[in-house]
Amino acid sequence: MRVLVVGGAGYIGSHMVKMLLGAGHAVITLDNLSSGHRDAVLGGSFVEGDLADPECLNRVFEQHKPEAVMHFASYIQVGESVRKPDIYYRNNVTNTLNLLDAMLKFDVKKFIFSSTAAVFGEPDYVPIDEAHPNRPLNPYGRSKWMIEQVLADYDKAFDLRSVCLRYFNAAGADPEGQLGERHDPETHLIPLILQAASGRRENIQVFGRDYDTPDGTCIRDYIHIVDLCSAHLAALEYLNHGGVSDRFNLGNGSGFSVQEVIDAVQNVSGKQVTVLNGPRREGDPARLVADAKRARGILAWQPTYTALDTIVSHAWQWELKQLS
Ligand code: UDP
Repeated sequence: MRVLVVGGAGYIGSHMVKMLLGAGHAVITLDNLSSGHRDAVLGGSFVEGDLADPECLNRVFEQHKPEAVMHFASYIQVGESVRKPDIYYRNNVTNTLNLLDAMLKFDVKKFIFSSTAAVFGEPDYVPIDEAHPNRPLNPYGRSKWMIEQVLADYDKAFDLRSVCLRYFNAAGADPEGQLGERHDPETHLIPLILQAASGRRENIQVFGRDYDTPDGTCIRDYIHIVDLCSAHLAALEYLNHGGVSDRFNLGNGSGFSVQEVIDAVQNVSGKQVTVLNGPRREGDPARLVADAKRARGILAWQPTYTALDTIVSHAWQWELKQLS
């Protein structure tokens, strides 16, 4: 298939491009390189362009004739979204509408959307299944939830079929060492601890040790980037075989605390990390763990790299490469 990967130069998108190419698909990456890296796109066609530019979208659809679209391009920082909701809604909502306009114009009816656990807000229960109420707590989560609702309406009105994948905590790196996480600034827990272990950073701060969890630190569901991408591949197959529009939660199904992640990094790297104890970060629920049974059942998705040590060791291999 010809698959357009929007945001294919970013962390998740670049791993997706690699996997699609490996599965024999023709890939077109569209990325404005605002946070992505051109050298992370390992093959296929590359177009530098922006979703805010409908002319650019027309050219991409005309020239490359994609049959399906995966959309990874969005702003992802919760705190920033609270301070700058205008740019979050413009990029994550308005620009996505532009992309959907182009799809409708060129009669492309298969869409895989990067959504987030943030569409749920403070959980009533964990693990969180798809029946859990949606009460996003910040503009980032709301922007994703808005598009999920837009997609339900577009399905009814335009027969545009979509799969929304709610990521919990994407983590790890390409097991072959070609790709990994390169955010600037880095805000995610695992790369921050790895940087503290490798010496690129002096320390790591734990945001709160007074949560109602066994060791007092927050519990999250870290899902290996390759497993996340294989769920997209499964979603593509699903849509190709006539699957109806749906939403799936994607996680490992097991939670790990911030302290457990620090321990895993020290164990894998053999380095001691300087750990500072900081205050809670606003809006952080104590536990976020996915119930991914529906994805396993309906998409026939099977995660491979579920052990925390494996996730951390692939990310550590990538971190070491950044030093050389
Ligand atoms: N966290 C932390 N120190 C940091 C960054 C994150 O203690 O420097 C905690 C954060 O409070 C959360 C977990 O690590 O409980 C994962 O945070 P991250 O920002 O990686 O992902 P999020 O859960 O916000 O999507």
